[in-house]
Amino acid sequence: MRKIGIDIDGTVTCTHALTPHINEAFNVELTTEDFVTYDLTKAFDVDPDEFSVWWKANELRIYEASPVHTTAQSVLQRWNDQFELHYISARPEATYATTKRWFQRHDIPFDAIHLIGSHYKVNEAKRLDVDLFLEDKYDNAIDLNETLGIPVLLFDAPWNRKPLPKGVTRVYNWNEANEWIRTKRLQ
Ligand SMILES: [Mg+2]
Repeated sequence: MRKIGIDIDGTVTCTHALTPHINEAFNVELTTEDFVTYDLTKAFDVDPDEFSVWWKANELRIYEASPVHTTAQSVLQRWNDQFELHYISARPEATYATTKRWFQRHDIPFDAIHLIGSHYKVNEAKRLDVDLFLEDKYDNAIDLNETLGIPVLLFDAPWNRKPLPKGVTRVYNWNEANEWIRTKRLQ
């Protein structure tokens, strides 16, 4: 059975998941469009150390409250019969219970959830021998495609709008990802 590697935040969870939490905590009125780099602290006037302290204190609560990305649930249910679904995320291992509960609560299928605590995903994707990767972080997408030679679907977000090589395809929602799989016949 073919294996799919799937990022969690901004890929299975909604692109806009963090924005309201940041607005509330830091008394700002940002939209997701303001986050044009992956480093969220570049979008507004905040001390990165202060942000980091806030993030650690609120991470679990935010993960629990994250909405699902577009039609991820129904598409992943469809894929579950055809593929092995491996979620590979930079979330720390300590958030595993919360993360697993979120998948169960939203009825999103998984074969395994790998929380590697690092944005460097090439080794884990190689170890698992995934055939395709779904991601929203630009440099990860490029790196996974270049190093492993696998196709990558990049979920569009303001922080990843840069030119893509042939092996990386921008998608705007889960129906487009499903359509890519259907037409490329990854099976
Ligand atoms: Mg992500």
